[in-house]
Amino acid sequence: MSLTGKTAVVTGSNSGIGLGIARSLAQAGANVVLNSFTDREDDHALAAEIADDAGVTARYIRADMSKGEDCRALIEQAGACDILVNNAGIQHVAAIDAFPADKWDAIIAINMNSAFHTTAAALPMMRAAGWGRVINVASAHGLRASPFKSAYVTAKHGVVGMTKVVALETAQEPITCNAICPGYVLTPLVEAQIPDQMKTHNMDRDTVVREVMLARQPSKEFATVEQIGGTTAFLCSDAAAQITGTTISVDGGWTAM
Ligand code: NAD
Repeated sequence: MSLTGKTAVVTGSNSGIGLGIARSLAQAGANVVLNSFTDREDDHALAAEIADDAGVTARYIRADMSKGEDCRALIEQAGACDILVNNAGIQHVAAIDAFPADKWDAIIAINMNSAFHTTAAALPMMRAAGWGRVINVASAHGLRASPFKSAYVTAKHGVVGMTKVVALETAQEPITCNAICPGYVLTPLVEAQIPDQMKTHNMDRDTVVREVMLARQPSKEFATVEQIGGTTAFLCSDAAAQITGTTISVDGGWTAM
């Protein structure tokens, strides 16, 4: 499969799954736009490294996905957006009656509202180009709930709903919109949850990983960023042209239960 000549914008792509997706799309030939809210030298260096490795154009654009105007500016500054991957996300774990309101607002803004703004800005570009792919990185938590993750589960279910609506609105165009629902992938976001989970459950690290985090992942293995990247590249391929409005789980069997 070749994505040569296509431009992919991947939100939240200076680490973890977003970076894995950007690497996979670049390896498939796409020019990529990396994004985060940080604008560090390292962010630009990552783009240069991807460009060198894959022989494509890669750029880093700073934009804060908690702000609607930044989301839209990211797409405008990219100049082209054939493939939009809405990946930026954060997490906070707390019981709902103790859930800080500012954390709730940030999770809803970054994990859900950003996809509305970027999609709204990108669709006219895809229509003008005559081809487009919108891929939302949701979660097994877009399909199932867990205690202590109210904002995250709410946002991810919202993203799965938005995926279906965008698919229906673009159904008769050469544009598809799907959501990938990973189970646990060992990234900085998951790593950061381990101390909280250890405290909440009063367990050591290994026990919390096996019995709490991977308790619902029957494979007992974390998914990898390369697997999520490969799934994203597949959704961009011609084989996936009639796949739209659906979710693809990459969760070691979690949602089979
Ligand atoms: P991560 O912390 O490694 O990456 C999150 C990315 O989002 C980073 O690049 C970060 O810079 C970016 N980001 C955060 N706030 C931002 C903001 N305000 N503006 C712009 N960028 C911002 O986490 P990850 O595990 O790679 O998560 C990526 C996505 O995958 C998230 O949407 C997450 O919910 C989803 N996901 C992760 C897992 C998992 O197990 N890791 C499972 C299911 C879904």
